[in-house]
Amino acid sequence: MSNYLVEFSKYGPSSVLQYVKREIPKVDGDMLLVKDAYAGINYIDTYCRTGLYPVPLPSVPGKEGSGIVTEVGPTCSKNFKVGDRVVYLTMSGSYGQYNLVPPVLAAKVPEGISLKVAAASLLQGITVLALIEQAYPVQSGDYVIVHAAAGGVGLLLCQMLKRRGVHVIATASSPEKRSLALQNGAEFSCSYQEVVDLSLQITGGKGAHASFDSVGKDTMKASISSLRNGGTFVTFGNASGIIESVPFNLITSKCIKVVRPTLFGYLDSGETFDRYTSKLWDEIIKHKLNIAIHHTWKLEEAKEAHDKFQSRATTGKLLLSCNE
Ligand code: NDP
Repeated sequence: MSNYLVEFSKYGPSSVLQYVKREIPKVDGDMLLVKDAYAGINYIDTYCRTGLYPVPLPSVPGKEGSGIVTEVGPTCSKNFKVGDRVVYLTMSGSYGQYNLVPPVLAAKVPEGISLKVAAASLLQGITVLALIEQAYPVQSGDYVIVHAAAGGVGLLLCQMLKRRGVHVIATASSPEKRSLALQNGAEFSCSYQEVVDLSLQITGGKGAHASFDSVGKDTMKASISSLRNGGTFVTFGNASGIIESVPFNLITSKCIKVVRPTLFGYLDSGETFDRYTSKLWDEIIKHKLNIAIHHTWKLEEAKEAHDKFQSRATTGKLLLSCNE
């Protein structure tokens, strides 16, 4: 049986993504074989494709997927069986019909949550939980900036912060995107250029408690200038380019804390993954977290999906359907 997947064998623009036929991988040891329903697209997939984050070549893009377990390795460390509906994170690619998955970063999808919603929510949802519980543990009443607030991570941040009593100041590039952020829990919104003035104005000149900044290079200075004394700059992405360093003269006078988190860095143990995943299911089932799916492309359309993503024309989550 064949396995169609997306692969790149050199770094570059979306045209390096090739739709190819391969063997179904052999299951061994502590692994699962999953027939994917959906692969989630994340901005990190573009960093890997361009070589900003180096990966072994050739490489299959994708850090998350959902589907049905078709084989369980002989020393599988978690209680999975053939036929289970699962969602997973992986470092070895999810843009394929069949993927080998480490069980430590896989979870059963509860009844009431579709495989589509599971793939659309896992990576971004538990990233948000790690950001607001570990990178900067938010408190009710805080004023917090969310950059790129209409994106996949951004819309989840707005909702989960609002539920915790946080005043969200959202930035995005267009009025339509800002309006979406407001509908998803942001209290204030503005363009990237206006965020320093707005943050100071609504906090009586003090500034925000924290800035969750995934835009990177273009927003670093504005993020820091928008913070109060002792505020926290959480820089967790590079949509506009990488931050090579944060100059001390920008952070010293206000005693700013700088945190540079990565989701996989926080998932040091399977327990953390399981804890955040079960919290995510609660957010979706009990607290009605809205998982906004922008569009689902076919696997062979991964190039178009990446182009659309990088053109800034999307909001919410992007998916690939893997076995249509
Ligand atoms: P988004 O849906 O948020 O898409 C990225 C958005 O960034 C764009 O829509 C755009 O929104 C904004 N943006 C600002 N400047 C630029 C630019 N120069 N070029 C392109 N886009 C720009 O993507 P995701 O939700 O997948 O990810 C959001 C961010 O979170 C990414 O930076 C990603 O790397 C980071 N992330 C980090 C994780 C971690 O572990 N550290 C885990 C998950 C995500 P607008 O048009 O409104 O400006």
